[in-house]
Amino acid sequence: MTEISFEAGLDFARLMDRQDKLASFRDRFHIPKSEDGSDTVYLCGNSLGLQPTNTADAVMAELEQWRDFGVKGHFEGAFPWMPYHEFLAPAMAELVGGGDGEVVVMNSLTVNLHLMMVSFYRPTPERHKILIEDQAFPSDRYAVQSQIKFHGFDPDRSTCLLRPRDGEATIRHEDLCDLIEREGDEIALILLPGVQYYTGQVFDMAAIARLGHEKGCMVGFDLAHAVGNIPLRLHDWDADFAVWCTYKYLNAGPGAVGGCFVHARHGNAADMPRLSGWWGHDKANRFEMIHPFQASVGAEGWQLSNPPILSLASIRASLDVFSDAGFMQPLRRKSETLTGYLHWLLQEELGPAVEVITPAAPNERGCQLSVRAPGGKALFGKLDEAGIVGDWREPDVIRVAPVPLYNSFEDCYRFVTILKSLLDK
Ligand SMILES: *Cc1c(COP(=O)(O)O)cnc(C)c1O
Repeated sequence: MTEISFEAGLDFARLMDRQDKLASFRDRFHIPKSEDGSDTVYLCGNSLGLQPTNTADAVMAELEQWRDFGVKGHFEGAFPWMPYHEFLAPAMAELVGGGDGEVVVMNSLTVNLHLMMVSFYRPTPERHKILIEDQAFPSDRYAVQSQIKFHGFDPDRSTCLLRPRDGEATIRHEDLCDLIEREGDEIALILLPGVQYYTGQVFDMAAIARLGHEKGCMVGFDLAHAVGNIPLRLHDWDADFAVWCTYKYLNAGPGAVGGCFVHARHGNAADMPRLSGWWGHDKANRFEMIHPFQASVGAEGWQLSNPPILSLASIRASLDVFSDAGFMQPLRRKSETLTGYLHWLLQEELGPAVEVITPAAPNERGCQLSVRAPGGKALFGKLDEAGIVGDWREPDVIRVAPVPLYNSFEDCYRFVTILKSLLDK
């Protein structure tokens, strides 16, 4: 981050917005309104990203394509449905640092996690554990437990839990390294987030992949809170697989289709065990309806079904916005400044009255800050009434995520000012 000395006050926030080269991207999103018609301060892109203004047209175009072409829409029109997922792959690969054929858009996150574990979690009596955080997002924990049970192992004995030290909120990298070093010989799979959903902590994915591989473990990442938030280089970091959703920082709408990365060394190995469906069959002869299954090369070989095109259309619209913004490098530059400003202003205005549990170092966090404040959930309710859209996570955190595509410095200013007035009461 270039060193900027922040200042308090609305004038400074507006000055920063005037100097922001990405500021005009806010106009490419629908900002939800308060009852009085003013823009809410929407700081909830970590949970559901806002709707880009080009989404409706992209979805309508597919309804029109269906109306006008019927079944022939699979092959005709501007974006034929047969290869539709291929239109998304280059931009998606750019966002996660995937190479050719390593990225596919399919299913939803938890489904993809299961499909990946079928391929990458193959326990033996000697090596049967999955390393996961104790505080992992519940769906990931449930998926892991069920996979362990499915293979006839005991989740209590076969999960290796990573925890912060007592009294601390975030994981120390050295503790993670020690755990892999200590238990690595029994660990079949390391499954960790890119960005932790609760604390906003960024994990050092390159180091984790390297350490895990040294111990003979498979290494997969859940990028739900990382994709579209921080720069990613999955191929270079040598991750075995990764999964993510597209409705958080990727702004593709509720329940939109997710993404999946399979490293080329696995994607090109035809004998990888997997659950298969017709959409993963070799495209050259998919419609010859032949047996047995021949996998498409790359991540596409894990597809099961023909995809929901209306959802892919909204992803395409969103990826166009990312492309126009220049993808993650400029967005990250703004994001570090924007979140740095929010953090600074919280400390400046509120001091010890609030605690930010997200790491302070820019390389250890994305845009989200997780804030503990007196009043907890009741305070959160009052923020909501005042037009601040953040989210509350049990047991005691308010998450606020200034998103560089559509949030402004003034948004951060308004949030802190309103928080301060509520705490002063
Ligand atoms: C949001 C999120 C999910 C959601 O899973 P879905 O299958 O898309 O419902 C899973 N894991 C993590 C870490 C998340 O943040």
